[in-house]
Amino acid sequence: MKIGFIGLGNMGHHMARNLASAGHEVTGFDLAAPCPEGVAKADSAAAVATGADVVVTMLPNGAILKSVASEIIPAMPAGAVLCDCSTVDVESARDVADNAKAAGLMAVDAPVSGGIGGADAGTLTFMAGGDDTAFKKVAELFDIMGQKAVHCGEAGAGQAAKICNNMILGITMAGTCEAFALADKLGLDRQKMFDVVSTSSGYSWTMNAYCPAPGVGPQSPADNDYKPGFAAELMLKDLRLSQQAAVSADADTPMGERATELYSTFVEDEDGLGRDFSAMLPRFEKRGRS
Ligand code: NAD
Repeated sequence: MKIGFIGLGNMGHHMARNLASAGHEVTGFDLAAPCPEGVAKADSAAAVATGADVVVTMLPNGAILKSVASEIIPAMPAGAVLCDCSTVDVESARDVADNAKAAGLMAVDAPVSGGIGGADAGTLTFMAGGDDTAFKKVAELFDIMGQKAVHCGEAGAGQAAKICNNMILGITMAGTCEAFALADKLGLDRQKMFDVVSTSSGYSWTMNAYCPAPGVGPQSPADNDYKPGFAAELMLKDLRLSQQAAVSADADTPMGERATELYSTFVEDEDGLGRDFSAMLPRFEKRGRS
């Protein structure tokens, strides 16, 4: 396929490279980041879109996505697919899909899970929204960039799945970290805590696969001085998207709201910026109740 790729940052760089290595003809554009090997550099987003079968975008947020979409939609040939893999708000994803459809194009919102390591290794999980024909057209690209793609429903369903998943992740990480800090204060050995919880009803991905306590459980960012991994500020971005969606859908999400407040304090008022989101454990460790 002839593929345009816009947004060649931490994630997009690897994803575009994997598409090119698999034999697709990939042209890339980014305001700042260089093109990976095998990807031809274009001078504008519109140039990338001209003649492309699929344009993949991997951008920081919904406002930037909407602005890029307004440049590329008029340049894309009829029947082409605009496949946005960024994490953005559900409304922006739906707006972009509506505008693409009105111009005779197809659209898929397909945010990812798996981080920079997954992007590099081609093992991302894609959660996709959009109609069947569009999903089927890009499914072979998901197979190259990832290990699993779930078609979640119509436009916006991919973003909805992503923010619900990451709201659970933020809440669970905060809960796992506060439980470790409480266990410390009760004199419980961290390894014993892990041995019990990881095989009991408190188990979770954050405990079993990404344990926030250094030296306990499988290797995780906690064993590397909390270097990300998944940065606390990205967790905060996703939690805020979950709360924006909760407000617009009138959903009661008290735990999500609390996790958002916690990560916002950690990133914006304390030392969380640039640290892994599991560094919430040393934060709790230092604190008392007041
Ligand atoms: P990044 O900031 O490294 O990359 C974004 C790129 O977009 C940058 O290179 C930037 O120059 C480029 N860009 C910005 N505006 C542009 C424009 N108008 N035209 C062209 N290029 C433009 O971010 P990232 O870590 O690669 O994340 C990308 C998306 O993936 C985000 O939505 C993020 O939430 C999501 N995501 C990231 C991770 C992660 O671990 N990094 C994991 C899952 C999802």
